[in-house]
Amino acid sequence: MNVDFSKSGEGLVPAIIQDAQTKNVLMLGYMNQEALDVTLKTKKVTFYSRSKNRLWTKGEESGNYLQLVDIQNDCDKDTLLVFVHPQGPTCHKGTATCWGGTNDQEYGFLSKLEMIIASRKDNSEDPNSYVASLFRKGINKIAQKVGEEAVETVIEAKDDNDELFLNESADLLFHYLILLQAKGYSLNDIVKTLQGRHQ
Ligand code: AMP
Ligand code: ZN
Ligand code: ZN
Ligand code: ZN
Repeated sequence: MNVDFSKSGEGLVPAIIQDAQTKNVLMLGYMNQEALDVTLKTKKVTFYSRSKNRLWTKGEESGNYLQLVDIQNDCDKDTLLVFVHPQGPTCHKGTATCWGGTNDQEYGFLSKLEMIIASRKDNSEDPNSYVASLFRKGINKIAQKVGEEAVETVIEAKDDNDELFLNESADLLFHYLILLQAKGYSLNDIVKTLQGRHQ
Protein backbone atom coordinates (compact mmCIF):
# COMPACT_ATOMS: atom_id res chain seq x y z
CA MET A 1 0.00 0.00 0.00
CA ASN A 2 1.50 3.29 -1.21
CA VAL A 3 0.84 6.00 1.43
CA ASP A 4 2.18 9.57 1.26
CA PHE A 5 3.76 10.10 4.70
CA SER A 6 5.66 13.22 3.53
CA LYS A 7 3.05 15.89 4.24
CA SER A 8 3.22 16.13 8.04
CA GLY A 9 6.96 16.49 8.55
CA GLU A 10 6.79 13.85 11.29
CA GLY A 11 5.97 11.19 8.70
CA LEU A 12 2.48 10.65 10.07
CA VAL A 13 -0.90 10.30 8.41
CA PRO A 14 -4.30 10.43 10.15
CA ALA A 15 -6.08 7.09 10.40
CA ILE A 16 -9.85 7.23 10.75
CA ILE A 17 -11.10 4.14 12.57
CA GLN A 18 -14.51 2.93 11.44
CA ASP A 19 -16.48 -0.10 12.63
CA ALA A 20 -16.73 -2.37 9.58
CA GLN A 21 -20.17 -3.57 10.66
CA THR A 22 -22.01 -0.56 12.10
CA LYS A 23 -20.07 2.02 10.05
CA ASN A 24 -19.74 4.25 13.12
CA VAL A 25 -16.51 6.25 13.43
CA LEU A 26 -14.78 4.99 16.59
CA MET A 27 -11.63 7.09 16.95
CA LEU A 28 -8.85 8.88 15.12
CA GLY A 29 -5.17 8.11 15.43
CA TYR A 30 -1.94 8.63 13.50
CA MET A 31 0.20 6.09 11.71
CA ASN A 32 3.73 6.16 10.35
CA GLN A 33 5.06 3.56 7.93
CA GLU A 34 6.09 1.27 10.76
CA ALA A 35 2.69 1.47 12.49
CA LEU A 36 1.02 0.65 9.17
CA ASP A 37 3.35 -2.31 8.61
CA VAL A 38 2.70 -3.67 12.12
CA THR A 39 -1.06 -3.18 11.66
CA LEU A 40 -1.06 -5.10 8.38
CA LYS A 41 1.13 -7.86 9.78
CA THR A 42 -0.56 -8.42 13.15
CA LYS A 43 -4.12 -7.44 12.10
CA LYS A 44 -4.27 -5.41 15.34
CA VAL A 45 -4.52 -1.68 14.65
CA THR A 46 -1.30 0.03 15.74
CA PHE A 47 -0.69 3.77 15.79
CA TYR A 48 2.24 6.05 16.30
CA SER A 49 1.30 7.74 19.59
CA ARG A 50 2.32 11.41 19.64
CA SER A 51 2.04 11.52 23.46
CA LYS A 52 3.85 8.23 24.10
CA ASN A 53 6.35 8.89 21.27
CA ARG A 54 6.29 5.24 20.29
CA LEU A 55 4.26 2.65 18.45
CA TRP A 56 1.04 2.00 20.29
CA THR A 57 -1.11 -1.02 19.64
CA LYS A 58 -4.61 0.02 20.64
CA GLY A 59 -5.67 -2.42 23.37
CA GLU A 60 -2.16 -3.27 24.55
CA GLU A 61 -3.16 -2.51 28.19
CA SER A 62 -6.95 -2.72 28.12
CA GLY A 63 -7.28 -5.73 25.83
CA ASN A 64 -9.70 -3.68 23.74
CA TYR A 65 -7.93 -4.37 20.46
CA LEU A 66 -9.13 -3.13 17.10
CA GLN A 67 -9.15 -6.19 14.85
CA LEU A 68 -8.20 -5.11 11.32
CA VAL A 69 -10.70 -5.80 8.56
CA ASP A 70 -9.50 -3.52 5.73
CA ILE A 71 -7.59 -0.30 5.06
CA GLN A 72 -8.42 2.23 2.33
CA ASN A 73 -6.21 5.02 1.06
CA ASP A 74 -7.98 8.30 0.33
CA CYS A 75 -7.95 10.14 -3.03
CA ASP A 76 -4.46 11.66 -2.57
CA LYS A 77 -3.04 8.89 -0.38
CA ASP A 78 -2.51 11.01 2.74
CA THR A 79 -5.35 9.76 5.00
CA LEU A 80 -6.25 6.21 5.91
CA LEU A 81 -9.71 4.79 6.49
CA VAL A 82 -9.32 1.72 8.69
CA PHE A 83 -12.21 -0.75 8.99
CA VAL A 84 -12.19 -2.76 12.19
CA HIS A 85 -14.06 -5.12 14.45
CA PRO A 86 -13.58 -3.51 17.90
CA GLN A 87 -13.02 -5.84 20.84
CA GLY A 88 -14.69 -3.89 23.62
CA PRO A 89 -15.09 -0.13 24.00
CA THR A 90 -12.66 1.85 21.87
CA CYS A 91 -12.29 4.97 24.05
CA HIS A 92 -10.11 4.76 27.14
CA LYS A 93 -12.94 6.59 28.96
CA GLY A 94 -15.06 3.47 28.53
CA THR A 95 -17.42 4.60 25.77
CA ALA A 96 -17.77 2.73 22.50
CA THR A 97 -16.46 5.69 20.49
CA CYS A 98 -14.19 8.64 21.32
CA TRP A 99 -17.16 10.97 20.77
CA GLY A 100 -19.18 9.24 23.49
CA GLY A 101 -22.33 7.26 23.00
CA THR A 102 -22.95 3.82 21.64
CA ASN A 103 -21.80 1.89 18.61
CA ASP A 104 -25.22 0.52 17.71
CA GLN A 105 -26.17 -0.30 14.16
CA GLU A 106 -28.22 2.54 12.66
CA TYR A 107 -30.90 2.11 10.01
CA GLY A 108 -31.25 5.69 8.84
CA PHE A 109 -34.83 6.93 8.84
CA LEU A 110 -36.11 3.66 10.35
CA SER A 111 -33.96 4.31 13.44
CA LYS A 112 -35.36 7.84 13.68
CA LEU A 113 -38.88 6.42 13.46
CA GLU A 114 -38.05 3.86 16.17
CA MET A 115 -36.97 6.68 18.48
CA ILE A 116 -40.21 8.56 17.87
CA ILE A 117 -42.21 5.39 18.57
CA ALA A 118 -40.21 4.80 21.78
CA SER A 119 -40.98 8.33 22.97
CA ARG A 120 -44.70 7.74 22.35
CA LYS A 121 -44.44 4.58 24.45
CA ASP A 122 -42.92 6.67 27.25
CA ASN A 123 -45.71 9.28 26.94
CA SER A 124 -48.60 6.97 26.15
CA GLU A 125 -51.16 9.32 27.73
CA ASP A 126 -50.68 11.80 24.82
CA PRO A 127 -54.29 12.22 23.51
CA ASN A 128 -53.17 13.52 20.10
CA SER A 129 -50.93 10.60 19.19
CA TYR A 130 -52.17 7.57 17.24
CA VAL A 131 -49.08 5.60 18.28
CA ALA A 132 -49.63 6.45 21.96
CA SER A 133 -53.26 5.30 21.64
CA LEU A 134 -52.03 1.94 20.30
CA PHE A 135 -49.70 1.53 23.29
CA ARG A 136 -52.64 2.29 25.61
CA LYS A 137 -54.70 -0.46 23.93
CA GLY A 138 -51.91 -2.98 24.51
CA ILE A 139 -50.01 -5.74 22.78
CA ASN A 140 -53.01 -7.77 21.57
CA LYS A 141 -54.46 -4.79 19.70
CA ILE A 142 -51.06 -3.87 18.23
CA ALA A 143 -50.44 -7.47 17.12
CA GLN A 144 -53.91 -7.51 15.53
CA LYS A 145 -53.06 -4.33 13.58
CA VAL A 146 -49.89 -6.00 12.29
CA GLY A 147 -52.00 -8.95 11.17
CA GLU A 148 -54.46 -6.65 9.36
CA GLU A 149 -51.71 -4.71 7.61
CA ALA A 150 -50.02 -7.99 6.63
CA VAL A 151 -53.25 -9.23 5.05
CA GLU A 152 -53.74 -5.91 3.25
CA THR A 153 -50.16 -6.15 1.96
CA VAL A 154 -50.84 -9.69 0.70
CA ILE A 155 -54.01 -8.53 -1.07
CA GLU A 156 -52.22 -5.64 -2.78
CA ALA A 157 -49.28 -7.85 -3.73
CA LYS A 158 -51.70 -9.89 -5.87
CA ASP A 159 -52.96 -6.76 -7.60
CA ASP A 160 -50.92 -4.60 -9.93
CA ASN A 161 -51.49 -1.29 -8.14
CA ASP A 162 -47.96 -0.44 -7.03
CA GLU A 163 -49.00 2.61 -5.04
CA LEU A 164 -51.40 0.59 -2.88
CA PHE A 165 -48.80 -2.15 -2.40
CA LEU A 166 -46.16 0.36 -1.28
CA ASN A 167 -48.59 2.04 1.11
CA GLU A 168 -49.73 -1.23 2.71
CA SER A 169 -46.11 -2.35 2.98
CA ALA A 170 -45.31 0.91 4.79
CA ASP A 171 -48.30 0.40 7.11
CA LEU A 172 -47.07 -3.12 7.85
CA LEU A 173 -43.52 -2.07 8.62
CA PHE A 174 -44.70 0.87 10.74
CA HIS A 175 -47.02 -1.27 12.87
CA TYR A 176 -44.38 -4.00 13.09
CA LEU A 177 -41.93 -1.43 14.55
CA ILE A 178 -44.61 -0.52 17.11
CA LEU A 179 -45.13 -4.20 17.97
CA LEU A 180 -41.40 -4.68 18.48
CA GLN A 181 -41.29 -1.70 20.87
CA ALA A 182 -44.37 -2.96 22.71
CA LYS A 183 -42.56 -6.27 23.24
CA GLY A 184 -39.46 -4.40 24.43
CA TYR A 185 -37.38 -5.08 21.30
CA SER A 186 -35.99 -3.09 18.42
CA LEU A 187 -35.08 -3.66 14.78
CA ASN A 188 -31.51 -4.35 15.85
CA ASP A 189 -32.60 -7.40 17.88
CA ILE A 190 -34.24 -8.87 14.80
CA VAL A 191 -31.22 -8.14 12.61
CA LYS A 192 -28.99 -9.83 15.19
CA THR A 193 -31.26 -12.88 15.10
CA LEU A 194 -31.03 -12.95 11.29
CA GLN A 195 -27.25 -12.53 11.44
CA GLY A 196 -27.07 -15.41 13.90
CA ARG A 197 -28.64 -17.68 11.27
CA HIS A 198 -26.31 -16.43 8.53
CA GLN A 199 -23.19 -18.33 7.33
P1 AMP B 1 -5.21 0.66 25.44
O1 AMP B 1 -4.43 0.94 24.19
O2 AMP B 1 -6.68 0.51 25.18
O3 AMP B 1 -4.65 -0.52 26.18
O4 AMP B 1 -5.05 1.92 26.40
C1 AMP B 1 -3.79 2.31 26.83
C2 AMP B 1 -3.73 3.81 26.97
O5 AMP B 1 -3.83 4.39 25.69
C3 AMP B 1 -4.84 4.46 27.76
O6 AMP B 1 -4.56 4.54 29.10
C4 AMP B 1 -4.88 5.85 27.15
O7 AMP B 1 -3.85 6.65 27.63
C5 AMP B 1 -4.60 5.58 25.73
N1 AMP B 1 -5.83 5.37 24.91
C6 AMP B 1 -6.54 4.23 24.82
N2 AMP B 1 -7.56 4.37 23.97
C7 AMP B 1 -7.49 5.62 23.48
C8 AMP B 1 -8.26 6.35 22.55
N3 AMP B 1 -9.31 5.81 21.93
N4 AMP B 1 -7.90 7.61 22.27
C9 AMP B 1 -6.83 8.14 22.87
N5 AMP B 1 -6.07 7.52 23.77
C10 AMP B 1 -6.38 6.26 24.10
ZN1 ZN C 1 -6.22 13.25 1.32
ZN1 ZN D 1 -11.19 8.38 23.43
ZN1 ZN E 1 -53.08 -0.64 5.70
